[in-house]
Amino acid sequence: MDTKKKRVLERVKEEGIEFIRLQFIDIFGMLKSVNVTPDELEDALEGNQMFDGSSIDGYARINESDQCLLPDPDTFQVMPWRPKEMGVARMICDVYNTDGTPFEGCPRTQLKKVLKEAADLGYELNMGPEGEFFLFHTDEKGRPTFDIHDHAGYFDLSPIDNGEDARRDIVLTMKKMGFQIEASHHEVAPGQHEIDFKYDEALRTADKWVTFRDVVKNIAKQHDLYATFMPKPFAGENGSAMHCNQSLFKDGKNIFFDPDKEYQLSDEALYYMGGLLKHAKGLTALGNPIINSYKRLRPGYEAPINIAWSNKNRSTLIRVPARRGSSTRIEFRSPDPIANPYLIYAAMLKAGLEGIKHKIMPPQSVEEDVYNLTAKQRADLELEYLPRDLYVALKEMEKDPLIEEAIGSHCFKRFLEGKYEEWNEYAEQVHQWEIDNYLKKY
Ligand code: ADP
Ligand code: GLU
Ligand code: MG
Ligand code: MG
Repeated sequence: MDTKKKRVLERVKEEGIEFIRLQFIDIFGMLKSVNVTPDELEDALEGNQMFDGSSIDGYARINESDQCLLPDPDTFQVMPWRPKEMGVARMICDVYNTDGTPFEGCPRTQLKKVLKEAADLGYELNMGPEGEFFLFHTDEKGRPTFDIHDHAGYFDLSPIDNGEDARRDIVLTMKKMGFQIEASHHEVAPGQHEIDFKYDEALRTADKWVTFRDVVKNIAKQHDLYATFMPKPFAGENGSAMHCNQSLFKDGKNIFFDPDKEYQLSDEALYYMGGLLKHAKGLTALGNPIINSYKRLRPGYEAPINIAWSNKNRSTLIRVPARRGSSTRIEFRSPDPIANPYLIYAAMLKAGLEGIKHKIMPPQSVEEDVYNLTAKQRADLELEYLPRDLYVALKEMEKDPLIEEAIGSHCFKRFLEGKYEEWNEYAEQVHQWEIDNYLKKY
C-alpha cells in the first residue's frame, strides 16, 4: 500500500472517524456517496468497493451494472459539520469497470484525460470559480419554501443582509476543509450570496466545486435555511453563475501574460479565447444544463447573451479581468453553478487547446454594453447570440465533435439523451404564462 493510502488509514484512527463516505459524480453533476466503516477502508482504498451503476443517472445499463470506486487519497477530508465523535470523512473517487479499466462515463476520468493532453504539451490548467447561490427560508418541517430570506443587495451589510451568519459558517467550514477563501459577500439579488475561493489546478478545483455545493447546502440547513444553486429563481432579478476564471501555466509561469503584447495578453491567451469562442455554442449545454439556465442568459442581468470577449465588460461571454502577472486570466461567464464542473472544465480546456493548436484568433474585443445594441451595430460587430434555450443548446452540442472528444462518447450520448428527455417533458407542459396571456385573448 502506498504512503498516501497509509496516511488515510492513520488519520482515520487519529481523528476517531467511524464513517468514510466514498463520493463520486454522476453525468448530470450530482454528488453520490456510499459509506464504509474503518474495517472496510483498506479494501476500499484498493478500489474494491462495488456499486450498482445501473441505478446512477447516465451510468451503466442493467446488464452490465457492477462498477467499482477507486478513492483519491488526496481528497480525504473530515466533514466538519458532522459530529466530532464517531466522525465522518470523505474521499472523492474515480469509477472503474470490474476488469480494472477506467469507466468511460466517469466525468472525473474524462477531465483527467484532457488534463493529461494539456500536460503532454507542458500546460497546467488553473481554474478559479466564483460561486453564487440563493438562501430561502424553510417551513416548520424543514422543507424549502419560496420565501426569500432577505431583501439586501450587492455588498449590503447586516442587518439588511440576513445571510451573514450562515455565510460566516460556510466560509469557516470551507477553510477547515482546505479552501483558501478570497471573498464572500451579499450579491445583487435579494437573498443571493457569493463566495470566491482561490484558484487551483483544474481537477482540484472541480473537486472543490462539488464540495463547496455540499458545504453550502449543509451549513444553510443548520441555519434553518435552504440553499439553492438553481440558476434563476426569480424573473426580473439577477441569476447565479459559476464564472470560470482560467489560465494555463507552463513551468510554474502563467503563459497568458506577456508584458510586451497588446493588452499584455500572450498569443496563447488570445488563441485559447479564440477556441472558446469558436466552440461557445457547443459548450453551452454543458455549462447551462437545465431549462431554467436559459432564463438567466437574458439581457440586463450581468449574464452573457452574446459570443464576444472584452477587457472589462460584464455583458460579454468572456471578460479578461484587469489583473496581470500571475493573475492574468480569462473569465468564461456563461456556466451556472449546477453545471458538472468536470465535464465543462474538460470541454473548455479542449476548446482552448484547439485554439492554441490552430492559432484561432478571436475577433476584436467589444468594449461597449452589448445588451442594448441595434441590429446594425450587431451586424457590424458580427455578434452571434448564445443558444437561447436548452433545446437549441443540445442541438449545437450534438453537432460539435470537439465536445464529444472532450467528454467521451458515453458521457456525450447519455447527457444528450437525458437532457432531450428533460426538454420534452417541459415542452409538454402548459405553463401559467400561457394561461395568463392566451386564455382570455383567443
Ligand atoms: P471578479 O472580478 O469577476 O469579481 P473575483 O475576483 O471575484 O472575480 O474572482 C476571481 C477568481 O479568479 C478567484 O477564484 C481567483 O482565485 C481566480 N484567479 C486569480 N488568478 C487566476 C489565474 N491565474 N488563473 C485562474 N484563476 C485565477
Ligand atoms: N450573477 C451574475 C450572473 O448571473 C454575475 C454577477 C457578477 O459579475 O459577479 O452571471
Ligand atoms: Mg458575482
Ligand atoms: Mg466574476
